[in-house]
Amino acid sequence: MPFNLSLAEREGAGLKRTLPVIERVDGRRLYVDGEQYLNFAGNDYLGLSRAPELLAAAEQAARHYGVGAVASPLVVGHQAIHRELEAELCDWLGLEAVMLFSSGFSANQAVIKALLGKEHSLWQDRLNHASLQEAGLLSPARMVRFGHNDMNALEAKLKPAAGLIVSEGVFSMDGDTAPWPELVRLARVSNNWLMIDDAHGLGVLGREGRGTLNEQGLAPNSVNIFMGTFGKALGVSGAFVGGSRALVEYLHNFGRSYIYSTHLPPPQAAAVLAGVRLVRQADDRRAHLRDLVARFRAGVAGLPLQLLPSATAIQPLVVGEETATLKLADALKQQGLWTGAIRPPTVPKGSARLRITLSAAHTRADVQRLIDALHSAL
Ligand code: PMP
Repeated sequence: MPFNLSLAEREGAGLKRTLPVIERVDGRRLYVDGEQYLNFAGNDYLGLSRAPELLAAAEQAARHYGVGAVASPLVVGHQAIHRELEAELCDWLGLEAVMLFSSGFSANQAVIKALLGKEHSLWQDRLNHASLQEAGLLSPARMVRFGHNDMNALEAKLKPAAGLIVSEGVFSMDGDTAPWPELVRLARVSNNWLMIDDAHGLGVLGREGRGTLNEQGLAPNSVNIFMGTFGKALGVSGAFVGGSRALVEYLHNFGRSYIYSTHLPPPQAAAVLAGVRLVRQADDRRAHLRDLVARFRAGVAGLPLQLLPSATAIQPLVVGEETATLKLADALKQQGLWTGAIRPPTVPKGSARLRITLSAAHTRADVQRLIDALHSAL
């Protein structure tokens, strides 16, 4: 069978993935086979996944609403707690309307597949997340990729009033940000729609953690579609899409992964709501995270590995070759440090890397341990 063959090929190339069973994890630590590791591989950037406020909100909502939403949103799944979360997100981010999804992956599918027909074009940064690329491939629109953050390349490929430009706030595997003022300008002059996926910027960047647009001095309505996720800085999981009321009403009616999927469990919505309230006031956590990022970058500057130009919680060290990347991750594991070894096809061939992520849950001593271990392993 062909799928067996391709799996064998992956194994032969040393690229077969395995699924670790984690016994317990938070922004700082994880436990596997009874061993404890410092966790430098997760996305709990502000350390909220076990915050008492979120746990209490989830527990209370479970008692009141039950643990499941019982139905898809348009049937009887959309409950008061969902509406409350939507209102808080609108207030926080300055959006006219938002809608909730159980994952960022399904949010991106809904938007791109519902909005674009075969007469449209979809311009995507080459490094956009798999959920965006996949939605583009499955939509009837003409998908046009442009070089990473290459605004000249995008400008050359744009056609007037023909579709949607989509890019990320913070790129998930590189940690750098897109030049949003220029994206906004290009979308305006070409009269095309613009969408941000700010999964990794939300909560971490900007005033009150409002994300990459705010960090770069832009209003939320400088894009037509604002997508963000709850599984990173907000410590939970799920996602939202925001924009004009008309956009949200349209997606209520045509977003298939919204319409035909069980709504977010109420305890999850309640935990996210508590998370948003915490994130808005989490300047201390953001300042601590920035301090850790600066220390990490200074500490690894002399290593014989390329540290990508990132000022965010995602600090990738590019090794290049896959087996060398796995070897380095293993050497760190021996010292009690868990990092993500990211290989093709998640990243381009020849750019396998350790995707090191920092969290406000880490201490300065944790980051120093990582720096020391990298120096002794290389
Ligand atoms: N967009 C980006 C940029 C992501 O990194 C991810 C996943 N980590 C997603 C979308 C998908 O979000 P989710 O995990 O909620 O499905």
